[in-house]
Amino acid sequence: MLNSIDNIIRSSKENPTYECIVDFSFETELLLCEVINVERSWLKANPNYILSDEQEIKFSKLKLRREKGEPIAYIIGNRGFWTLDLKVNESVLIPRPESELIIELSLDLPLTNKADVLDLGTGSGALALALASERKGWSITGTDVSIDALKVAEFNKEYHRLNNVEFIKSFWFEEFEKKSPGQSKFDLIVSNPPYLGKDDPHLDKGDLKYEPNIALIAAENGKANLETIIFSSVTFLRDQGWLLVEHGFDQAPIVRKFFGEAGFKKCQTVKDLNNHDRVTMGLLEF
Ligand code: GLN
Repeated sequence: MLNSIDNIIRSSKENPTYECIVDFSFETELLLCEVINVERSWLKANPNYILSDEQEIKFSKLKLRREKGEPIAYIIGNRGFWTLDLKVNESVLIPRPESELIIELSLDLPLTNKADVLDLGTGSGALALALASERKGWSITGTDVSIDALKVAEFNKEYHRLNNVEFIKSFWFEEFEKKSPGQSKFDLIVSNPPYLGKDDPHLDKGDLKYEPNIALIAAENGKANLETIIFSSVTFLRDQGWLLVEHGFDQAPIVRKFFGEAGFKKCQTVKDLNNHDRVTMGLLEF
């Protein structure tokens, strides 16, 4: 019974083959689901199932890719975010649990059920789609400069049938700046922009090595996009509109300085579950 599900999972626990992961059994389960084409609950219900030769070969190939460092999310092609299962590939950042903080905070804001919302640099569509799934009355626009990322976001929108979202190609506010003043106004702007400096040591570690630099790295030691987004948001927010941005654990002071200089009120930085400063938010009042 060497290649039963139970044995494969058990041996992955005893011999973690990939150094960064303490317990490889969860990821082994994800790979098995991919190979057998079943849900995790099926694995639990069928611990004695023996992989066919073909499945075993496929499993070994996927496991080898993981051992070489490729992110599990890219290997299996999806990642859970909020309540949604999202397609991901090498064109998009893999959604992180800490980015769910933006969703929690947004849902707590005093906004009407008809709010206009903008997600800048949407990638897989994670923020836009999670908000859309929770607030069916909101009209949400997601932008990205990458056509390949937008294809992933569109796929996720269709898959989850979230018709209150539209995705457009734009480098930050550029497409809106082309329109006549006042034509595009929002009650909430959210963004998880690239915010790492090009020499950030994390770029060589774990999943980041495989993720698109365009989604990770920003000029001026990671600050450039945050600065653009914060200062330009003022033009595109309505009175009583909110801006929420994710940023690096050490960027809260500079981000709050930008918020203050741009004229935002009630500025606040919120920590993620790892106790790192992660999201800064502010209110615009005319
Ligand atoms: N939060 C990511 C990380 O360091 C960085 C993503 C980003 O730049 N938005 O893992």
